[in-house]
Amino acid sequence: MQVAKFKIKKNDQVMVISGREKGKTGRVIRVIPENAKILIEKLNIVKRHTKASQKVKQGGIVEKEAPIDISNVMLICERCKGPVRVGKKVLEDGKAVRYCKKCGDTLEK
Ligand SMILES: [Zn+2]
Repeated sequence: MQVAKFKIKKNDQVMVISGREKGKTGRVIRVIPENAKILIEKLNIVKRHTKASQKVKQGGIVEKEAPIDISNVMLICERCKGPVRVGKKVLEDGKAVRYCKKCGDTLEK
């Protein structure tokens, strides 16, 4: 099994720090490690036109989250109430956790 090399995980609260959605926050709904991108709930929405097919009887516009570069988002620390730099440390029981470099709090739920 490959060790996750990204500091962002599914269900994390993140803030977008550059691009069209700069300054907005949301929950990570999917991580795509192959191209270092994530999907954030209700952010970076694109509209796609779909044609009627056998599956979908009516064509129309579907709104969908488009991937955002992991490098364009920062994890939010609940205690600091803002985006923070993330470090990694290993606890006494051997478990690796992410922590906030600002307040030292663990960022795992
Ligand atoms: Zn913090």
